[in-house]
Amino acid sequence: MRVIEASLISEKVKEMCIEANYALPKDIYALLKKGISQEEMPLSKGTLEVIKRNADIAKSKKRPICQDTGMACIFIELGQDVHIEGNLTDAINEGVRQGYVEGYLRKSVVADPLFERKNTNDNTPALIHYEIVPGDKLKIIVAPKGFGSENMCQLKMLKPSDGVEGVKQFVLDTVEQAGPNPCPPIVIGVGIGGNFENVALLSKKAMLKDANEHHEDPRYSALEKELLESINALGIGPAGYGGATTALSLHIETLPTHIAGLPCAVSICCHVARHKEMVL
Ligand code: SF4
Repeated sequence: MRVIEASLISEKVKEMCIEANYALPKDIYALLKKGISQEEMPLSKGTLEVIKRNADIAKSKKRPICQDTGMACIFIELGQDVHIEGNLTDAINEGVRQGYVEGYLRKSVVADPLFERKNTNDNTPALIHYEIVPGDKLKIIVAPKGFGSENMCQLKMLKPSDGVEGVKQFVLDTVEQAGPNPCPPIVIGVGIGGNFENVALLSKKAMLKDANEHHEDPRYSALEKELLESINALGIGPAGYGGATTALSLHIETLPTHIAGLPCAVSICCHVARHKEMVL
């Protein structure tokens, strides 16, 4: 049994919260540059250049890329041969607390969602998803997510008879209805299958996949490509000013489902597609 100190996890989560908010992942940055080279409309090209310059300044000056530094969404893969010395959930929240305070990141969490809506003032609690996996490692993914784009995500319990066409229509409708609100160019994750509660999580995992990865099943990877092209043909463009760069990437994740259902969820993230990953 391998032992990992809870204090080490707090330290790493703190660093990852800060780094994720200051620097874009390499794959997203590369896609932004590609968008600039391909975009033909001057206003849209200029908008992408401003977005890239903003990201460059944030990284070099160690400032948040956007004022909305998000809710801290954390994915944990815990090896079954690991023992955490201390409380894992508390350690993660402590890391988020320190990261958002020390990194001067906006605190955006309210404790009661409906009546009081009082800020917790340290961006906790984090949203933590746990998965037990084989081995003696601990994988941590920190993905702070702003709500301009989170509010544009959608889930639909499609019928099996809706089929591929139903999925395509739902994805396109979701992006079209979102329009400029999620600060395009966007990154999209599509979850298909499972049930109501886990198809949303599936779509979020899809959204976090590396831009260069594609679904291993060629039918789904072809669908990823087709959907991305259809979305970019909508003409929403960077910041909604029009153009060909509405989405930078689109990934699909799938799960087995019930004979009577076809759950589908669409997670949308803005160009500030923050995430950091670490294995302890
Ligand atoms: S959607 Fe993204 S870019 Fe727009 S305000 Fe929110 S975090 Fe910032």
